[in-house]
Amino acid sequence: MRSWTGPAVAPVAGSAQPLRLHDTSTQVVRPVPRGGTVGLYVCGITPYDTTHLGHAATYVTFDLINRLLLDAGEQVHYVQNITDVDDPLFERAARDGVDWRELGTAEVASFRKDMEALSILPPRDYVGAIESVDEVVEMVGQLLENGSAYQLTEHDSPDGYEDVYFRHDASGNFGYESNYPVDVMNEFFAERGGDPDREGKRHPLDALVWRAARPGEPSWHAPWGDGRPGWHIECSAIARNRLGMGFAIQGGGDDLIFPHHEFSAAHAEAAGGGGRFAQLYVHTGMIGLDGVKMSKSLGNLVRVRELVAEGIDPAAIRVGLYVGHYRSARSWSAEILEEAQARLALWRGAISAAEPAPAAPAIELVRAALADDLDTPTALRHVDAWARVTNGVDSVTGGDDAAGTGRAVPRTEDGAEMASALINLMGVGV
Ligand code: ZN
Repeated sequence: MRSWTGPAVAPVAGSAQPLRLHDTSTQVVRPVPRGGTVGLYVCGITPYDTTHLGHAATYVTFDLINRLLLDAGEQVHYVQNITDVDDPLFERAARDGVDWRELGTAEVASFRKDMEALSILPPRDYVGAIESVDEVVEMVGQLLENGSAYQLTEHDSPDGYEDVYFRHDASGNFGYESNYPVDVMNEFFAERGGDPDREGKRHPLDALVWRAARPGEPSWHAPWGDGRPGWHIECSAIARNRLGMGFAIQGGGDDLIFPHHEFSAAHAEAAGGGGRFAQLYVHTGMIGLDGVKMSKSLGNLVRVRELVAEGIDPAAIRVGLYVGHYRSARSWSAEILEEAQARLALWRGAISAAEPAPAAPAIELVRAALADDLDTPTALRHVDAWARVTNGVDSVTGGDDAAGTGRAVPRTEDGAEMASALINLMGVGV
């Protein structure tokens, strides 16, 4: 599928530091493997109700990772999917009386615009589930052939549908990604799209990889019977076929730790190809609104396009999201946005000052903070400190404003270097 248009990335003065990230599977902060091409797979949207700030926080986080890897001279192969065939999409389309394909197309178009507004670098491969059905059919075939998956029969399926299930322990390493105890697995499996009570399954945690065709649902041909892909195997197939096994980073929101990422890994590992699915599993915390978790069911979503339509600078959205660490559950509020705007004004004033403080030492501190598992709160404080030294303690000057755009115009090399670091490393246009 067509990706979006990304801003160009320019080199930043000074030198990068090796990036270290928290890996969910080992629960420690580890170096990102270097050299060759760094494979980065981030689970994409199901195209409805996008792009709320929870989505934005996730894609901004992985954009930051992408930018830091590029800054370190790595080649990054970034892949993202779109779950454009799934029950939540069908349910929303039915509720609103629209065709699910049209809803998906319109939402993906909005998502692209939001990603462009937020200066997020596009993935090299942006792949829809519909586009990758052949790849899923191939992988389900491999799982059936080697005994890692089984098909319900007319005999053991109470509704007669011959769905295909993955034996949850087929990879021999089930549970290594999430490290969750079995009671937590059971709870999340039931809450997040699993079907523990489905009769005919050999184990409650066995996961659907192919849903047999039902009346009124889209379906595709497969040798064992027409149907459509399960959720997890879509990402297994798309990632494996583009990045190979053992790629560097599998990423997404922390609600994907289980079952989605556990099964994405297990499916690909059981299908063969050798080794583990990804080397690091990186997860972002959820975003709340005024202290309450932001969710579709609560109806308290704040959307990027609504903020942009109000005239909010997308750079302020990024800075607001950077105020908390990416792994923590964070809150969004009007105060956070106001503080982010004030911060940008402070920075812009310093960038366009006649005599800014030397930028290089501050940029080195920003890089060090970001390389340490994306310590954005500390990185922001280093930029603040540089700006305060430039502007005089706690005095915020307006700075130059190029024709009312809010953009700072650097007059000096130091101002230009800091502006370059902010846009190229952090995606914050000043
Ligand atoms: Zn996924």
